[in-house]
Amino acid sequence: MFAPHLSWRDEPLRDRLGERLGLPVTVVNDANAALWAEHVHGHARTARDVVMVTLGTGIGGALMIDGRLHVGRNGMAGEFGHIRVVPDGRPCECGHTGCWEQYCSGKALSRFAADAGSSLSGPALTEAAARRDPVARGAYLDVGRWLGFGLADLVAAFDPELVLVGGGVSAAGELLLEPARRALDEALVGSGHREVPELRVATLGPYAGLVGAAELTRLAA
Ligand SMILES: [Zn+2]
Repeated sequence: MFAPHLSWRDEPLRDRLGERLGLPVTVVNDANAALWAEHVHGHARTARDVVMVTLGTGIGGALMIDGRLHVGRNGMAGEFGHIRVVPDGRPCECGHTGCWEQYCSGKALSRFAADAGSSLSGPALTEAAARRDPVARGAYLDVGRWLGFGLADLVAAFDPELVLVGGGVSAAGELLLEPARRALDEALVGSGHREVPELRVATLGPYAGLVGAAELTRLAA
């Protein structure tokens, strides 16, 4: 129905793929697929209430409530990346401004590094941060803090027991999660008087979406 990064609007993807492949096709959101994979095979096996964000080019999101994926009326629930965190902030591909993913994503990471004079992006930036390069570390600190602030709003809204972070940017592990935990503790309503959910990197890494898509297709068959 709508894909902000592909400029697809009402694209009959399932029918077109089905015609080409000659097979039944199920279309699922990649973050929903990743969360389902984590529920079947990963960290979310025993959890019932989970928020997942996948940090890649943008932010993907998925929500599990009482052990079931919550996809919403249009199947579009969990588009956390387009929650407005900065009024009149940076323009976003979705057509709005100030969306969370403009401050917390692979693209944002490269931009924070570029603003500080580095030309590195992607895995090279992660490697530089692991080598204690101050600019690369600073970029992860910025993205990590934005991650924590955004998650504070999601935790306030859904009170999950577990928050999973997946996608390419999550490969940095604690470089990202440590500042995110601090920002989450700082910004969460009732902090100090409630259990703050565990914040972990997803188990299945870049394969989570593929594994979840296969599992969900098996369920639909
Ligand atoms: Zn947006």
